[in-house]
Amino acid sequence: MGQAVLILIKPDGLKKSLTGNILTRLSETKLEIVAAKMVRVTQALAEEHYKHLKDKPFFNEIIQYLQGELHDRKKVMALIYWGPDAIKKCRELAGATNPEEAESTSIRGSYGRITTSGVYENVIHVSSNDSEAEREIKLWFAPDDVIVDLYPTKIIQKDIKFKDWA
Ligand code: ADP
Repeated sequence: MGQAVLILIKPDGLKKSLTGNILTRLSETKLEIVAAKMVRVTQALAEEHYKHLKDKPFFNEIIQYLQGELHDRKKVMALIYWGPDAIKKCRELAGATNPEEAESTSIRGSYGRITTSGVYENVIHVSSNDSEAEREIKLWFAPDDVIVDLYPTKIIQKDIKFKDWA
């Protein structure tokens, strides 16, 4: 049975040129990448992504962090990995939220840090469970961005302007 998980390579991961290392580590899972893109993260997207942490004292910092304001890298790489036990496999490889507590061989243990202002810069986001994965995937991706059918879709007919290649 396939399970889907949203992975984000956060702005510190991109700034430290860790994309290749992180994707190599994730390939140990033998999961399939079914979607991938670079995203310029708006405040609205960051706030919706972290809405469960709205009341935390570090909320504003992590919104800035995800938007790339702390790293002069206003982008995130978003991917969907898919396959058996995808969430457990990716979270194990990622390691604990606090990079100081993460297993030293995990992605966060290897590359994360705590800033002097106390933000956990942990280079990667991994969905925490099935319902969060579904919520996050629907937030970050449109159905046509994903090469497998993960969730039910509907057809909407709209007469809209859109940008195409000239
Ligand atoms: P995870 O990313 O492991 O699922 P959370 O959703 O709880 O963890 O937290 C979201 C992000 O907020 C973390 O990845 C980390 O960057 C930051 N964060 C979480 N807890 C703290 C904390 N106590 N202090 C500073 N930053 C934190």
